[in-house]
Amino acid sequence: MAEWLGNGLQNRLQQFDSARHLLIAEAGRCSTAGFFSDMFNTDRVIQFTDIGEVTFHKSYRAKNYRIKVDGKGSVTVTVPLYGSWRTAVNFVKDNKKWILSKQAEKHNQPPKKSFSYEELKKLADEAYSYIPARITELSEKNNLPFASLRLSTARTRWGSCSFDNRISISIYTMLLPENLIDFILLHELTHTIHKNHQAGFHAKLNELTGGKEKELSKELRTVTRTLNLK
Ligand SMILES: [Zn+2]
Repeated sequence: MAEWLGNGLQNRLQQFDSARHLLIAEAGRCSTAGFFSDMFNTDRVIQFTDIGEVTFHKSYRAKNYRIKVDGKGSVTVTVPLYGSWRTAVNFVKDNKKWILSKQAEKHNQPPKKSFSYEELKKLADEAYSYIPARITELSEKNNLPFASLRLSTARTRWGSCSFDNRISISIYTMLLPENLIDFILLHELTHTIHKNHQAGFHAKLNELTGGKEKELSKELRTVTRTLNLK
């Protein structure tokens, strides 16, 4: 009996220890939502004819089923925590045509553009001399204060704004025309008051761009495609 108790205690200590490790691993994220989402997350991989392997990823945060085809044509489906695997599989079947067209598109894409050290240095220099001054100007003009600015070398996103208004802008924005750089800076500044991309966000950004949000966003998509950074 004593031994049984001992084992029980040992098991509990081991469980505690693995939870502690999880917690330490997650601490970097500093987010309760992140911690719980990972506790609930489980992935499943299913082989489909035509499409190939599809990874199903259960997410605590997802509200809808979502399909993503990455640069290599790999398919990931996000499944809401209380969603069903069967619905997820049917969702893939229903969207098979779209997935196959996306995969074909990725397959035919030229390789990502590469930059030499000198080219990168030039972009960084340009960004350092332009972005901080310009975002300060736009911030003051529109009364949208932000906490800090960081320049990044992100290729897949032009910018981001954290919950506490720390803005990050990619040095690759320097490849864009001035009006689109402004559009990106205004986008992130708008996030200082709207933390999502819902109607209020778009209304504000549209106001800041003199009613040109849709037009600029289309232009940015077109230019982004031709730059081939992702
Ligand atoms: Zn945004």
